[in-house]
Amino acid sequence: MSRAKKTLSGYKACKNCKLIIPEDATQCPNCGSTEFTNNWRGMIAVIDPEKSCIAKRLGITKPGVYALELVEE
Ligand SMILES: [Zn+2]
Repeated sequence: MSRAKKTLSGYKACKNCKLIIPEDATQCPNCGSTEFTNNWRGMIAVIDPEKSCIAKRLGITKPGVYALELVEE
């Protein structure tokens, strides 16, 4: 049995806007930040931020896939 962590490998989350992007990206296409974390939990696909109360609560204004929670190291 594999003991792999239950996070999506190959993806990281922007520390600024929580957008989930591929590990090899150097800059967040959403906010331009270059600070990322591999420690994030949960994910939410936001298609229409205007109509999503979760998106509003998380401060998401652009469609995309976001982490629900960033884990502080
Ligand atoms: Zn960002």
